[in-house]
Amino acid sequence: MCSQSFTKPELSNCLSSIFGFSGFRPNQAEIINAILDQRDVFAVMPTGGGKSLCYQIPAHLLEGTCLVVSPLISLMKDQVDAAVEVGLNAAFLNSSLSDDEKNKVMGELIAGNLDLLYVAPERFAMKSFLKILQDVHVSFAAIDEAHCISEWGHDFRPDYLMLSLIAENFPDIPVAAFTATATNRVQDDIISRLKLRSPFTVRASFDRGNLFYKVIPRINANTQILHFLQKHTNESGIIYRTTRKSVESTAAFLKKNGISALPYHAGLSDYERIHNQEAFNKDEINVVVATIAFGMGIDKSNVRFVLHADLPKNMESYYQETGRAGRDGDPAECLLLFSRGDIPKIRYFIDQMEDEWEREKSLNNLNIMATFASVNSCRRHRILAYFDEVYPKKNCETCDVCTGDIEQVDATIDAQKVLSAIVRTGERFGSGHIIDIVTGADTQKIRSLGHDKLITYGVGKDKQKNYWRSIIDDLLAQNFVVRSDGQYPVLKLCGTCVKILKSEVKFFTLLKKEKPKKTIRAKFSADYDIGLFEKLRALRMEIARKKGVPPFVVFSDKTLREMASSCPVTETEMLKINGVGYKKLEKYGEKFLSIIIDFQQTK
Ligand code: ADP
Ligand code: ZN
Repeated sequence: MCSQSFTKPELSNCLSSIFGFSGFRPNQAEIINAILDQRDVFAVMPTGGGKSLCYQIPAHLLEGTCLVVSPLISLMKDQVDAAVEVGLNAAFLNSSLSDDEKNKVMGELIAGNLDLLYVAPERFAMKSFLKILQDVHVSFAAIDEAHCISEWGHDFRPDYLMLSLIAENFPDIPVAAFTATATNRVQDDIISRLKLRSPFTVRASFDRGNLFYKVIPRINANTQILHFLQKHTNESGIIYRTTRKSVESTAAFLKKNGISALPYHAGLSDYERIHNQEAFNKDEINVVVATIAFGMGIDKSNVRFVLHADLPKNMESYYQETGRAGRDGDPAECLLLFSRGDIPKIRYFIDQMEDEWEREKSLNNLNIMATFASVNSCRRHRILAYFDEVYPKKNCETCDVCTGDIEQVDATIDAQKVLSAIVRTGERFGSGHIIDIVTGADTQKIRSLGHDKLITYGVGKDKQKNYWRSIIDDLLAQNFVVRSDGQYPVLKLCGTCVKILKSEVKFFTLLKKEKPKKTIRAKFSADYDIGLFEKLRALRMEIARKKGVPPFVVFSDKTLREMASSCPVTETEMLKINGVGYKKLEKYGEKFLSIIIDFQQTK
């Protein structure tokens, strides 16, 4: 192996002339240098961290072809389209190609015309492919989504096990493994299975500074979602729901209310799933309502929000799903609608698990998730703590707790009212009946049991039932009350609640503030003219449609926003825009410039 050295300015030049970016993101330059030095690499970087560029630049600079292993056929075409758009020689090889197309790609590979060849992992099981590789100059191999090789990870793919053949059969080729998710155990597993040789290792921070995390109590999911979407018109986003049925009903509700939304879940036909995913990817619809089946094939950079209408079952899933927002680095919002009622539903499935270890692990994960949603401390601190990372600042400034959108309220007296109703009815009733007593409902059950004679009857009629439900949820969460098992669960007191009844301890609950105290939110990097932005978007859509690629492959939203902000009118000015490299300037510069010039003249 021989390493080729490139100076810092050469690398920066490559970054700006090809990709049109002004600087490297954290760890990119180090990883690129390691690959150029012929070292193996193991890199954990969050989604949107810019992993692809880490292998695309060396692929361009080094002689020979870089093999990129990517798990999803659906993603490969977009990845190759995006690489070709910036002027790299890239192609893919997978089962979606006809024999003729495959032969053509093979021909290009053998002739040494490719910087990058994207392949699915199963290709390494084919002897014929391995044989061809012996005669081809392969510069290095890049393994995307490398955690798929580990059975400890959440996306294990047996096909990935084949990849150990690369280091075995081609000892002179460096291997660079990338993933956005790896605990220490998965990391060790990836390194040993891929047989990486003292790899240059990067564990980037899991912090996604541009994401705003927020949790609000769920009262009526569909209405709350609609309300949220009305504040996010024309933005792309994903709404996650747990069941196929709720996906369908929310999507139908949104459509009825004029939102361009489509459903996505494993119960749809292949055709519908692909169609709906493509429609989202290509900005033809704004919103996709989906189960967790949706996500792996999404590399769309302009997802502006991810809304969870149900509690995710663990932090890992929540992080991955919210991570699909804001890949372009611009601000994006992650909203979770939380109802404690989701906890027993998830528990029910966990209780069915046969393996005791799995069951305990899942239960523990669920508790972490439920605590995240219900406790009044910085969301970012909690997410990062899950990944064993300590967030350095006290106030993250981009979560509802840190910006003061919610506050802790002393609700000791209200808790006493609920506890008293439970005591006086002998701990024999469920939350619905207790709430009926406190709010003074006139039901047959109350009358026949004489509960309208209790002194607690109607003491809380000044507040809504939902409020009382949240007080009971909080009493349960803070272990002052427990819910019995069985078909008709009833509320029972824990010893600790005596202190509340005697006013020896205070009971706090969380309330969303009507008017947030201060709202320090990440802003888009620049103010821009929305009218011009929409015109640029329309042109991008026209170009993308003609070429049959997703719009973000032409230019990202972020790039268009910058154009609509700084209004370049010459090619030199256009080149200064982030995301405009020489190749894209050559292809599209004139068209976009003419829209900007027209716009300025008619203003
Ligand atoms: P990942 O695979 O790590 O999720 P990508 O490689 O898809 O991330 O990159 C996410 C987005 O960030 C893409 O739109 C990409 O063009 C952009 N990007 C990557 N590196 C840079 C950089 N140095 N400067 C600006 N934008 C970048
Ligand atoms: Zn915070």
